[in-house]
Amino acid sequence: MYDSNNIFAKILRGEIPCKKVFENEAVLAFHDIAPAAPVHVLVVPKGAYVSFDDFSAKAPPVELHAFWEAVGKIARDLGVDKSGYRLIANHGKDAAQAVPHFHVHILGGTALGGLVAGDRLAR
Ligand code: 5GP
Repeated sequence: MYDSNNIFAKILRGEIPCKKVFENEAVLAFHDIAPAAPVHVLVVPKGAYVSFDDFSAKAPPVELHAFWEAVGKIARDLGVDKSGYRLIANHGKDAAQAVPHFHVHILGGTALGGLVAGDRLAR
């Protein structure tokens, strides 16, 4: 169930400010409030989807295409396409998803080290 009072829904409605880096009819992208890398941008679809699971199951092809096309463009606009970047989409409890509106993190601007939190993953 989508909670329309989540923080990204409020940002999308303009009720809470953000440092916007890109917007079109389908997508809003803004800097993460607590950056984990020199480049840390969140890309959010304007549709009401709880997480990647919800988005991938329910979004129509035109929204899926618009979203992923925007992610690539934003990364290029940020200038991290040459040096490299990481995409993260947390879904649900085990991934510690904090905000229940689907979003992708674009992380870059430095060497990010091993896959995700490789040295901290439970084995
Ligand atoms: P998640 O764990 O859900 O994948 O990540 C949520 C992200 O949203 C975190 O990196 C957190 O720093 C960021 N965040 C939480 N609240 C706000 C906010 O009000 N503004 C912005 N710009 N980022 C936020």
